[in-house]
Amino acid sequence: MEAAIIAAKRGHDVTIYEKADRLGGKLVFSEQVSFKYDLAKFMNYQINLVKKLGVNVKLNTEATPEMIEAGKYDWVLAAVGANAFVPPIPGTDGKNVMIAEECYKHIDEIGENVVLIGGGEVGCETALALAEKGKKVSIIEMLPELCPETFHLTRGVMLGLMNDKGIAQYTSARCTGITEKGVAFLDKDGKEQFVECDVVVMSSGMRPRSDLAESFHMTAPDFAAIGDCVVAKNVRTATRDAYDNLHIPACLHRLALRLQTLKYTKYSCGFHPGSRQ
Ligand SMILES: Cc1cc2nc3c(=O)[nH]c(=O)nc-3n(C[C@H](O)[C@H](O)[C@H](O)COP(=O)(O)OP(=O)(O)OC[C@H]3O[C@@H](n4cnc5c(N)ncnc54)[C@H](O)[C@@H]3O)c2cc1C
Repeated sequence: MEAAIIAAKRGHDVTIYEKADRLGGKLVFSEQVSFKYDLAKFMNYQINLVKKLGVNVKLNTEATPEMIEAGKYDWVLAAVGANAFVPPIPGTDGKNVMIAEECYKHIDEIGENVVLIGGGEVGCETALALAEKGKKVSIIEMLPELCPETFHLTRGVMLGLMNDKGIAQYTSARCTGITEKGVAFLDKDGKEQFVECDVVVMSSGMRPRSDLAESFHMTAPDFAAIGDCVVAKNVRTATRDAYDNLHIPACLHRLALRLQTLKYTKYSCGFHPGSRQ
């Protein structure tokens, strides 16, 4: 949406293809969580701007390279996001297993006893959102600490809240299997443990949909991949990526391309050697 807003403000004729039935991407979850109201506000602000600027939005439309090529666009930006990474643990295909994004969609209906596998920022925040709904929550993390990459002040508040809410935390723990009764894991001392639960939520990281993004590479004279489909990070990075791609003059992109010598190295603005330019 950020890229569409900037391009529309510059007077371009812009179309967004969105396979879901609404705009917002991964941020749609923020409407379900009390402490994510600022993110929900940002998402709705962008949705309103997209409408106000007359961007042509095609919902329920899964873009394919053929479809986009047929549109004869001058510039294509792929912002197809990332997929949840599901580690190869036996039982992840069970009916009681879901990814964090899905869990938010059904947060009121899912069972009372929940285990999260993965204690990064998404895992910890999902654990808090579930605890706020009165669920009994446990979190299992392979690393010795929860959300080590989170900004220290935010992390301190988050861990404090998790303790207040009585969220059970198992760190340096390795999951060995999931059954319909719960999750088995080896604790930090190598001892076998089992946590009973109704639902298992996978919050074990995201993987960029770079192959899908790359498939749109030759569909227009100019192309860039932006956001989570390049590096799955956060809203700030995705928004900044859109801003950079639309604000750096085209001549600089071309210069960067000419200077590019390594076949598979990406220029940070998303252009790739070997494009039509
Ligand atoms: C549970 C969860 C919580 C998060 N919490 C935070 C947070 O608190 N703060 C923060 O900064 N970040 C957070 N993030 C990360 C943040 O949501 C992403 O970094 C950001 O949404 C990336 O934006 P994007 O536009 O690149 O991708 P996305 O938001 O994933 O959007 C991609 C869009 O492309 C659509 N799409 C995919 N393929 C096609 C196709 N072929 N045709 C048409 N449409 C297609 C998808 O339907 C989707 O709407 C969270 C992520 C998750 C999963």
